[in-house]
Amino acid sequence: MSRPLRIAVVGFGMGGSALAWRLAEAGNEVVVFEQAPSTGPVGAGILLQPNGQAVLEHFGMLDEVEALGTTITGLDARHRSGRRLTTLDYSMLGSPSLGSPSLGPGLHGIGIMRSSLFSLFAQRCERAGVEVATGHRVERYRQTGEEVEPLNETGESLGSFDLLVASDGSNSRLRSHAVETNPALRARVIDYAYGAMWMAAPFVGDQHRLVQVVDRSGRLIGMLPVGDGRCSFFWGIRLEEQASIEAAGLASWQRQVSEFSAEAGAIANAVPSLSEATFSTYRTARMNLPVDGRVVFVGDAAHATSPHLGQGLNLALVDAVVLAEALERHAEHRDALDDYAQRRRATTRFYTQMTGFLTPFFQTSNPALRVMRDLALPVMPLVPGLRSHMALTMSGLKRSWLSPIRPRRGLRSDPPHWR
Ligand SMILES: Cc1cc2nc3c(=O)[nH]c(=O)nc-3n(C[C@H](O)[C@H](O)[C@H](O)COP(=O)(O)OP(=O)(O)OC[C@H]3O[C@@H](n4cnc5c(N)ncnc54)[C@H](O)[C@@H]3O)c2cc1C
Repeated sequence: MSRPLRIAVVGFGMGGSALAWRLAEAGNEVVVFEQAPSTGPVGAGILLQPNGQAVLEHFGMLDEVEALGTTITGLDARHRSGRRLTTLDYSMLGSPSLGSPSLGPGLHGIGIMRSSLFSLFAQRCERAGVEVATGHRVERYRQTGEEVEPLNETGESLGSFDLLVASDGSNSRLRSHAVETNPALRARVIDYAYGAMWMAAPFVGDQHRLVQVVDRSGRLIGMLPVGDGRCSFFWGIRLEEQASIEAAGLASWQRQVSEFSAEAGAIANAVPSLSEATFSTYRTARMNLPVDGRVVFVGDAAHATSPHLGQGLNLALVDAVVLAEALERHAEHRDALDDYAQRRRATTRFYTQMTGFLTPFFQTSNPALRVMRDLALPVMPLVPGLRSHMALTMSGLKRSWLSPIRPRRGLRSDPPHWR
């Protein structure tokens, strides 16, 4: 853009912190409004996929991130009985059907604590002069042709800005405000009946595989190694279970987990208090257009996905690089935001549709869906073309149901999502 902009970023989460840093690095004046009284991410570990890693490499951070996390070679999903449901390996991307042999070798996921990644962005924000105002819940905004003002719960203005970036997460208040006030905007939101207790704990299993285990009741658990003999433990619950788990206390929950499986029980038994767990809800949400005048939506605020594909943060990172580059490239904010929306449309539509489709199969007590899942998942990776598509989807490299991305020189040297 022709002049430095004054930009308000609402939400200092994973995507907001990355974007705030990039915008400040580009010379803009950036103020972040975060509702929490202090900064820091909520939740335990996260799986960084090849698309997110490509962004981190572009930011010059990948080596540091790799050193803080651990390599994940693939995913094993199984029944509580031990019966295999599916196995997906990043190395499956070496398939010739991709048309790009250089994409496959060496690709992997990275399991890392959210706090480790967040700290890297927060430090960079500080160095780049980003102002972070905590304890400010932004509920709405008001805009004229020339400026936009974030408004708090009481309707008080928090200042005048050239742009407002809404990165207030999957339950975005600003998304609700946008669709309530702009008839051209719509958001499709599916709230799930399931959530998760999410915590870090010592782990003695395979340190390089993400393991997911399901049972017939709809329980889904996950163990993602994050390095140093620890894992991020995901204990799926129905939302109404939270109150009874908290009321019954730690020992009762540890017994319940141990009855589910000895491996999960060993993790739960090492958790000193239920306060170590984050109770999280999740949803699929997507806006038809992530732009409202001088307001632009990124990350989960624009396109939330359930955690089953491990894509939400990775998509938020790609949003950050695409938006920062669009603002550099165009003189007019309108052109920059249109460019961002256009370049993110296909991929975010695919991943919200895909997680909306898969989530009821992954985490279900419905007998018909369960039977379909149990019959289909074991054979799908055995079908050569389908296997590559599944691995591409997991890696964050798909743009639509049919077309794989075909990078010209391989992912590392030619990050495909924003070129
Ligand atoms: C259990 C679980 C496991 C997951 N695992 C993975 C994974 O392995 N890989 C992956 O890529 N993704 C994963 N995700 C998804 C990932 O966490 C999100 O996609 C990612 O954090 C989105 O970043 P964001 O910046 O858009 O939102 P967030 O990181 O949620 O940040 C939103 C921020 O906005 C603040 N905020 C909210 N409302 C307001 C307001 N009104 N005013 C001011 N501030 C506000 C919040 O306090 C928060 O700091 C998982 C999610 C869950 C729940």
